[in-house]
Amino acid sequence: MSTESLLSVRDVTVDYATGRGRLRAVDRVSFELGAGEALGLVGESGCGKSTLGRALLRLVPLAGGEVRWQGRDLARLRRDELRRLRADLQIVFQDPLASLDPRLTIGQSVAEPLEVHRPELGRTAVRERVGRMLARVGLGPELHNRYPHEFSGGQCQRVGIARAMILEPKLVVCDEPVSALDVSVQGQIVELLRELRRDHGTALVFISHNLAVVRRLCERVLVMYLGRTMEFAPSEEFYADPLHPYSRLLLDAVPVPDPRVERARPPLAAGEVASPFAPPSGCVFRTRCPVAVEACARDVPAFEAATGSRRVACLRWGDRVTARR
Ligand code: SF4
Repeated sequence: MSTESLLSVRDVTVDYATGRGRLRAVDRVSFELGAGEALGLVGESGCGKSTLGRALLRLVPLAGGEVRWQGRDLARLRRDELRRLRADLQIVFQDPLASLDPRLTIGQSVAEPLEVHRPELGRTAVRERVGRMLARVGLGPELHNRYPHEFSGGQCQRVGIARAMILEPKLVVCDEPVSALDVSVQGQIVELLRELRRDHGTALVFISHNLAVVRRLCERVLVMYLGRTMEFAPSEEFYADPLHPYSRLLLDAVPVPDPRVERARPPLAAGEVASPFAPPSGCVFRTRCPVAVEACARDVPAFEAATGSRRVACLRWGDRVTARR
């Protein structure tokens, strides 16, 4: 993997206006991603990870901070410059059927990005490339003229991935791409992403609440809670020894194969789940943190350098108090 910085994310903040007032969905998130690297964005639903994924591609406006792509501030690009860049920046959505145009055959769906971004290619070249890519994702030529509603969820997701990869992008944001699929199909899609990534050198931002899947794909993990970053770490170190109490709770919630052990486990984290409209003072995780102390209600933990390249936002990370269930 190259260490050249492809994507630089600095203090990215995203607000939504809602009927109940302003909701800060992402709050000053920062990280770097090198060419060909894979980053897992993890956290429970509502933590802001999908909004952050969209902000990275300028699909939602920023309330603060910046996203730099190969050194260029995405927010400052003109419309035509951004349109050209879209060839390098792709997204795969959670709901594969909803993300495909029902009026297009799957062959037409996968051809569309080529027709938009590579108009110099003739019809034969487009057809050949589409055929190769669909074969790559396990869909034979007999399926090219079928429509999305004729496919299973797993097959539609393969089409979505083929569509995202057909331009050989430098970055693909995968937003919960396997969470709507059966476990066995999940495994096949993850394997496919691994292979495509290896063959094309594509960088991935893989958004998921499934830490077992993230472990198979990503070299780094960024943990979010109520829009803020809790921990950022190389996967190996994160899975072996999480520094943040929330990371520990997430890891302990990964299902175990033995149903008796699974049934005996308590829920993910006791305590009140804070409202994103009125986040707690001090550390936003404190209402669920099993090792919170008085200072946690008062002081906002800085997102600071910990060991090696790891960063963590916890007043007590140095005490190594990440509680096990
Ligand atoms: S700062 Fe306090 S409440 Fe927050 S995670 Fe650390 S120990 Fe828990």
